[in-house]
Amino acid sequence: MVYTLPKLPYAPDALAPVISQETVDYHYGKHEKAYIDNLNKLIDGTIYADMPLEDIIRTADGPLFNNASQAWNHIFYFFAFSPEGGGEPEGELRKAIDEQFGSFDDFKKEFEEAGTKIFGSGWVWLSKDNDGKLFITQTSNAGNPLTDGLQPLLVFDVWEHAYYLDYQNRRAEQLHRLWEIVDWSVVESRY
Ligand code: MN
Repeated sequence: MVYTLPKLPYAPDALAPVISQETVDYHYGKHEKAYIDNLNKLIDGTIYADMPLEDIIRTADGPLFNNASQAWNHIFYFFAFSPEGGGEPEGELRKAIDEQFGSFDDFKKEFEEAGTKIFGSGWVWLSKDNDGKLFITQTSNAGNPLTDGLQPLLVFDVWEHAYYLDYQNRRAEQLHRLWEIVDWSVVESRY
């Protein structure tokens, strides 16, 4: 299998000013493309060539895990945004958030804090287990909750390349503003 960079469902300048066109061009167009190119080189002619990407993430380690997981993580991240995003989740997901975190505002606060406190590069996740229970977790570098048996629902990227062009060192500010572009219909569909 040869992986390609999926076209985003919005224009590169559509998420501004929360995420600028320059960041989309570098972060998705260059960083994510490099992970996908590396993934293709690493799987070529191996047992991983026809393995579903999520299974590669669950079983590989080293450079293959890093590039496979980063390829997956960035698509998951960018495809949950929309220029018409923001607002609040609804339905079963909203019910679970209110039950487990107290309120949507409490959930957002806990999620932002978890992302702010990651030391170095990584990701902050909302995931669910097989019973629909929600978890906020942190992963370092290329980490992914799939390796812990969880199903991811939403992720924010806290690598410096995600925010440095727009927010310089102010990671917490980017995390706080990303809620303005989250497409909750996508996140609900993952629950
Ligand atoms: Mn990134």
